Amino acid sequence: MKVFEKPNLSRDWKCPVCKTSDVKPITLVGIAGTEDDGIIECEQFHIDCMEPVWHKDQNVVGFSLRE
Ligand SMILES: [Zn+2]
Repeated sequence: MKVFEKPNLSRDWKCPVCKTSDVKPITLVGIAGTEDDGIIECEQFHIDCMEPVWHKDQNVVGFSLRE
């Protein structure tokens, strides 16, 4: 997971979890269903707005979102 020191604030970005555009470290999360020719659309999320959760039976890591 790649971490960026600050979000790209173009296009009036707001973190989908906390709904702010605070300048804090972010990561890019691929949006399911947008895969096209090896490229996937991504959204920026603050690192500290997400808590990784491993769904061991499905072998998937998801993130619970801190409200
Ligand atoms: Zn946030």
